[in-house]
Amino acid sequence: MLNFNYSVPTKILFGKHKIDLLAENIKEYGSKVLLVYGGGSIKRNGIYDTIIDIFAENNISSWELGGVKPNPRIASVKEGIKICKKQEIDLILAVGGGSTIDCAKVIGAGFYHSGDPWEIVTDSRKIEDSLPIATVLTLAATGSEMNAGAVITNLETQEKLGTGHPSMAPKFSILDPTYTFTVPEKQTAAGTADIMSHIFEVYFSKTKGAYVQNRMAESLLKTAINYGTKALAEPENYEARANLMWTASLAINGLLSSGKETEWSVHAMEHELSAFYDITHGIGLAILTPYWMEYALNDNTLDKFVEYGVNVWGIDADKDKYKIAQTAIEKTREYFSSLGIPTKLSEVGIEAEKLEKMAEQATRRGELGNFKPLSKEDVLNIYQKAL
Ligand code: NAP
Ligand code: FE
Repeated sequence: MLNFNYSVPTKILFGKHKIDLLAENIKEYGSKVLLVYGGGSIKRNGIYDTIIDIFAENNISSWELGGVKPNPRIASVKEGIKICKKQEIDLILAVGGGSTIDCAKVIGAGFYHSGDPWEIVTDSRKIEDSLPIATVLTLAATGSEMNAGAVITNLETQEKLGTGHPSMAPKFSILDPTYTFTVPEKQTAAGTADIMSHIFEVYFSKTKGAYVQNRMAESLLKTAINYGTKALAEPENYEARANLMWTASLAINGLLSSGKETEWSVHAMEHELSAFYDITHGIGLAILTPYWMEYALNDNTLDKFVEYGVNVWGIDADKDKYKIAQTAIEKTREYFSSLGIPTKLSEVGIEAEKLEKMAEQATRRGELGNFKPLSKEDVLNIYQKAL
């Protein structure tokens, strides 16, 4: 295990009716709020009205930035920063999924940046501070509600990049699983795949001796696998939605990654798919993951895949090691397929012509990963196999 510092400053308010604590938690930071939300799901399911009533009852003034799109755009960030400056906003409240939350975070950091906000996306070292961020989560997937990262898309340059700073971690997040009852099938499936991918990105690592992180990762994977299926079959099953929601937060809040070398190759490859084709993040990850696994499997990585197959999928440990690894990869593919996710990039509209450019962009910051380092040619190879 490697040395690490670990701190998660986000207060989690988890469970039914936790929205009742919204006003008192906002008041710790002031009474002028920028409410950030997406394309309208919170208006359809009533969460918006609940929040507006709470604001009115508690003398909280609010301004709104609605219409944040999946794969949130830098244009929305710019709009939000303008409102924060003009109205002297005290806190940014994101109500929605990862896109809304990520947008809010970069608005918060952009408030303190004197240049173009795209600069703090391309280079996180330029981030100095952020306005306080808080969230009401409506979709279990990204873990953005409990971490300091954000991913923003620039349509003009066809780039989708991750950034982050400790000051961008939400001060508090309200996690009421009933708020995810209305999440549509496709997003439930994509969210489950995103959660699993966050775990894979830190589980498949060369670091030895991180036993506790590895066993926690396997438990969270099994939880996501079990309750992803259940939430699809029964969207209003509280146990399923609650377990998925907490798993999403724990998967990517540093708990599993601290003390380990991490990978993040599949995420880097997926960001190019979203940047060029605006596809759903979790769907892209689910398609790429089994191909990445096949590509990463070799004599050096075999034992890790065996560990995965035996501990997560319950494959008989006495079998031939390569057989175990290949079966584990096949089970991963079958699982994503059982959630209704396509298995080929061409099924989501991706064309052969742009693969080379995407591979080049995916490796713009150098080779991806450590467990299985990927050059531009490797990335292109994986894209081609997945096409
Ligand atoms: P999302 O893009 O925030 O939302 C996807 C869709 O789900 C939207 O159409 C949204 O509708 C809808 N939705 C959300 N909650 C709903 C509800 N309760 N009922 C009905 N519909 C609902 O999805 P996401 O997967 O959470 O976020 C994806 C983004 O996060 C990607 O850009 C990805 O790259 C990024 N990401 C960030 C991190 C991180 O650590 N920061 C990690 C992984 C991925 P409305 O717009 O109408 O609300
Ligand atoms: Fe993700």
